[in-house]
Amino acid sequence: MLRLALHWQILIGMLLGAALGLVLNWKASRLEVKLSDGLPPGIDSVQLSDSSRMSEIKYKTESETIVRVIDPLGQQDGSVRNVSELRKVDPMAAKLYELHGRSTAKRVGAWFRQIGGLFLRMLQMVAVPLIVTSLLTGVLGLGGADEVGRMFSRTAFYYLATSLLAIVTGLVMVNVIRPGLSDTPKMMPSEVASAESLGDVLFAQLQAIIPANPLAAFTAPNYLSIIAFTLAFGIFTVRVGGTTADRIKQIAVAGFDVMMAMTMAIIRLAPIGVFFLIAYVTATQGIDVIRALGWYFITVLLALLIHAMVTLPLILWFVARRSPLDFARSLSPALLTAFSSASSNATLPLTLSNIEHRAGISNKTGSFVLPLGATINMDGTALYEAVAVLFIAQLHYGFNLPISQQILVAVTALLASVGAAGIPHAGLVMMVIILQVVGLPLEMQGVILAVDRLLDMARTAVNVWGDACGCAVVERLETAE
Ligand code: ASP
Repeated sequence: MLRLALHWQILIGMLLGAALGLVLNWKASRLEVKLSDGLPPGIDSVQLSDSSRMSEIKYKTESETIVRVIDPLGQQDGSVRNVSELRKVDPMAAKLYELHGRSTAKRVGAWFRQIGGLFLRMLQMVAVPLIVTSLLTGVLGLGGADEVGRMFSRTAFYYLATSLLAIVTGLVMVNVIRPGLSDTPKMMPSEVASAESLGDVLFAQLQAIIPANPLAAFTAPNYLSIIAFTLAFGIFTVRVGGTTADRIKQIAVAGFDVMMAMTMAIIRLAPIGVFFLIAYVTATQGIDVIRALGWYFITVLLALLIHAMVTLPLILWFVARRSPLDFARSLSPALLTAFSSASSNATLPLTLSNIEHRAGISNKTGSFVLPLGATINMDGTALYEAVAVLFIAQLHYGFNLPISQQILVAVTALLASVGAAGIPHAGLVMMVIILQVVGLPLEMQGVILAVDRLLDMARTAVNVWGDACGCAVVERLETAE
């Protein structure tokens, strides 16, 4: 029987999912209803309208008529951004909306999301044990403490350098395109204030690296703490040496083999998982939302494309001596899954197997560089944070942040990308830190929420691509000696 290669299967799943989602979005994303029967006690009539851009809930009680608006972009006065906010303000309106007011596209979309979510859960299930066993085999496979130190410093240097390059690309693009600027400044540049010092942020990350309770870190899961503890455990195993090290190595290798076998089985479901995840996104995201934030969206995408298609390929070509096109083809299942799942950690199993089986990079390098990268190296996220914060500052202040503040944004974006977990929307959560450092109101984040999922997909693919390129570079440096 004809069996298509996995990346074709995933691509087909993605395209079919997108087609189905788009049809739903086009045909079933609007709803207008008027109800006067079967309503909760005390409610006389209800009028609901819903689209991917905005929803309105209007209901009459005996004494008054109440109107509530859900506007993800927050442009309408007195509106809320989503149903959970509405629930806090007016539980009755939220109930009416959930019972009768959601368009078919949103209802079906929520269902797709749950099914796609099952696939993500399976990947998440293997992520922590895979990171631990892979990193341990990686460290123990290197042999001596010197080799571990050398590999670690090379990997860390590559990660630092490429994340900084990504941030600079983002900053240049947001300064050139200026997506959030209108003609009139709202404040003077001198009024920009720092709320939290860079030292505080740095210290918080340092604390995350030293888990007070490693077991709690494993169950949370706090990936930065897990990696730090596993690395330390591996390094000290090498130092203890002898039969102890041999035994631990045997267990780590055995655990890794089993986890990889489990992973490979889950990966076969990728085309189906991707189908549902993409169908969910395309069914529920409206083109008008993207249009409203168009320039911001374009700025992030362009900057990501430059980093992924110019900067990293140049490094691949000149440092790793590999054809970027062939390398991208080998990594295509992982890149497509990263794009659809918006999670580097969930994609890690695929990245590991692609690097080893399709790109021909040794397990020694892959199992060390990739688990580290999935958590600490996020070029796409770092770039995105820098662009988003500058965009918000442009909107809020009406001018570009002064260069000293932009440098602060760059350094904090780097730290935030290191601390961000490889899960959907993690970058958005970490952005709070940067907003605090440059003294921007946190609520302003609401403006970019509406398009975050789509940008998350793009930046996650860049994150995974950056990790994979790192593997090629480190492998080359290790073998060139
Ligand atoms: N979703 C991204 C990742 O998993 C992190 C982010 O939100 O930027 O790599």
